[in-house]
Amino acid sequence: MNKFHILTLFPQMVLDGLNTSIIGRGIEAGHISIEAIDIRDYSTNKHHKVDDTPYGGGAGMVMQPEPIYLAYKDLESKMKTKPRVIYLTPQGDVFHQEMAKEFAQEEELVFLCGHYEGVDERVLEEIVTDYVSIGDYVLTGGELPAMVMVDAISRLVPGVLHNDVSADTESFENGLLEYPQYTRPPEYLGRKVPDVLLSGHHGKIEEWRKEQSILRTKERRPDLYEEYQKKTNQ
Ligand code: SAM
Repeated sequence: MNKFHILTLFPQMVLDGLNTSIIGRGIEAGHISIEAIDIRDYSTNKHHKVDDTPYGGGAGMVMQPEPIYLAYKDLESKMKTKPRVIYLTPQGDVFHQEMAKEFAQEEELVFLCGHYEGVDERVLEEIVTDYVSIGDYVLTGGELPAMVMVDAISRLVPGVLHNDVSADTESFENGLLEYPQYTRPPEYLGRKVPDVLLSGHHGKIEEWRKEQSILRTKERRPDLYEEYQKKTNQ
């Protein structure tokens, strides 16, 4: 059972986004749990204010340290060990499949979602263990990135995907993209499913899929292909 705790100003957004389909079923079956903690509940301000203007001037608002710190300390006090705390930020290491696998080993993970211009640096220094970005672009908040990470990590938790083999053949396993997939009908808009997939010959199907994986990776992700070649030529 992996537990995800998400510190956010928009708990409903996170819960609505993660409670459906495969991840929703994973929650229902007890393989994972997702808790969204409203940072605003920890504001000591009578108007529940959680942000203020930046020192030194400039545009926008900055999330204040105290509500975040109190929310985190409350959470930490209920845990057996000190968790890894991930701050979603465009300034972090860019998320990838190997990182997802590493995080899937943790029993509990805390995600901190920023908003507005970001978060006061002092609380980040105090509580954050990992800075993670989901790509080189700027979003309005950390909620979508947290949802992306929770989704990618959850599907690696045993039991979440019923078909346990499907995670092993997917893109980025063995450093390759996955081969093309087909389902019924056998012909669509004049395009036929490759004969080999209808042959029932497992050896030939495996061979075809491997070839297609390599070809696709070479065409679409020359960077991955170069790495793959280096590894296989060793
Ligand atoms: N001022 C910040 C900067 O330039 O680095 C950007 C703040 S952004 C508008 C607001 C929040 O969205 C951030 O605190 C972060 O939590 C989240 N965010 C935006 N883009 C992201 C990305 N690419 N990956 C992860 N989190 C992101």
